[in-house]
Amino acid sequence: MSERIVVVGGGFSGSGVARRLEKLLPDADIRLVCPDDFMLYLPLLPQVAAGLLPAPAAVVSLSHGLRRTVLVPGRATGVDLDARRVLVRSITGHDEALAYDRLVLAPGSVTKVMDIPGLREYGRGCKTLAEAAYLRDHVLAQLEVANTSDDPEERARRCRFVVVGGGYAGVETAANLQLMTTALARRFPRLDPAMVQWHVVQHHDGLMPGLGERLGEDTRRVLESRGVHVDLGISLTAADDESVTLSDGRRLATSTLIWTAGVSPSPLVSHLGLDTDHGRLVVGADLSVPGRPEVFALGDAAAAPDLATGNGAVCPPTAQHATRQAPVAAENVAASLAGRPTREYRHRDLGMVVDLGGSDAVAKPFGIDLSGGVAAAVTKAYHLWAIRAPATMTRVASNWVLGALHGASAVRLGFLTGASGRLAEFEHTDDYLGPTQVREAIARL
Ligand SMILES: Cc1cc2nc3c(=O)[nH]c(=O)nc-3n(C[C@H](O)[C@H](O)[C@H](O)COP(=O)(O)OP(=O)(O)OC[C@H]3O[C@@H](n4cnc5c(N)ncnc54)[C@H](O)[C@@H]3O)c2cc1C
Repeated sequence: MSERIVVVGGGFSGSGVARRLEKLLPDADIRLVCPDDFMLYLPLLPQVAAGLLPAPAAVVSLSHGLRRTVLVPGRATGVDLDARRVLVRSITGHDEALAYDRLVLAPGSVTKVMDIPGLREYGRGCKTLAEAAYLRDHVLAQLEVANTSDDPEERARRCRFVVVGGGYAGVETAANLQLMTTALARRFPRLDPAMVQWHVVQHHDGLMPGLGERLGEDTRRVLESRGVHVDLGISLTAADDESVTLSDGRRLATSTLIWTAGVSPSPLVSHLGLDTDHGRLVVGADLSVPGRPEVFALGDAAAAPDLATGNGAVCPPTAQHATRQAPVAAENVAASLAGRPTREYRHRDLGMVVDLGGSDAVAKPFGIDLSGGVAAAVTKAYHLWAIRAPATMTRVASNWVLGALHGASAVRLGFLTGASGRLAEFEHTDDYLGPTQVREAIARL
């Protein structure tokens, strides 16, 4: 019988594992469990939200890159580690159990939602493709409604946008959407671009602290030169339909709270009964789970030792690590099946790139601080190189050219007619089951 390998998650890490396994184990039965039929290139999500890229341009089709892997459209809700079975809730709503000889867990992370009154109900995320598309519709709708309103308070509220979280995702989202809304306001006869107010609220005392003080300051200067309010050392304390309240006591009238204050590992891994580190599954340097040599984990969901730093740290949750861990995990799955020794994952960080929209960016390739036009060129070139799939690369590049010639696409797609698109509706974090519940659910099948 051929070996059964179940991979959970079709993102940077999971899709990479399946691709490499197809080459290494031509006879294996490989199943990839994923609710989506694409690999999402998350660094481009802010550009989807800002209308610079259509949603399908930011993804790589899973069926395009994978030939022999069976795609299981659903979500793993739990694992019976002793019986070696994964419980899967299909996108049609029925449950099935998948038996495995080797399990690879790569479910990534979800938006970290804190216990702040009103956040879950009124916050909007930018972590999934659907959220980015909903966010774009919502922001455009605010300007359109403000344009027709005769109530000055409502006009000001709808033209104010608050982004909480001054890390990479929050900065890119605010920077790109601010350019789109300011340009769009010029096209509305009853709006003035000066009415459009963007706020970035960051609890830390600098933007994107991982990039160092200088690039954080450069970023703040770019944002403030465009009129964005940057509030450092401040956090969100409450939100409702028409306002946010901040830790310095201010209450800002707004209809848009965008929440980008970090990610937490997929709740799947904390339901396994295994050791976790800040919610990430503890794995060894070969990405296998201690005491469970048939289980591997990688990407945002795994706390893999960062051997390149030599200081006992774990790899940060970045696409850079997830992509490079994938071939190592696949090779170690194959080695463990063949009874060969596994190898360790080691990668020296290449740095980060941050697109601030237009011709602005900051980047830190190989530890060198870059900003302005050079950083913008490096950022665009890096994304095109990192996408690797020729069809997606071409879609992204051609949309950038279109955007430079004609501006962002600023039409709503009609998503908001049936749903609100708020944080509470995405990511299904309440679906997961512990070991006993999984066993009972599988027994009922
Ligand atoms: C806006 C934004 C910008 C970013 N920019 C950068 C950047 O510039 N550079 C960088 O290095 N990193 C960046 N990151 C971080 C990077 O995207 C992540 O580190 C990377 O996606 C992690 O890869 P992964 O495979 O672990 O998870 P993901 O890529 O998130 O993939 C997880 C997959 O698992 C699926 N899944 C989830 N739960 C289940 C389940 N229960 N069952 C089955 N499937 C499941 C998901 O649908 C998804 O397909 C950014 C993140 C965001 C949000």
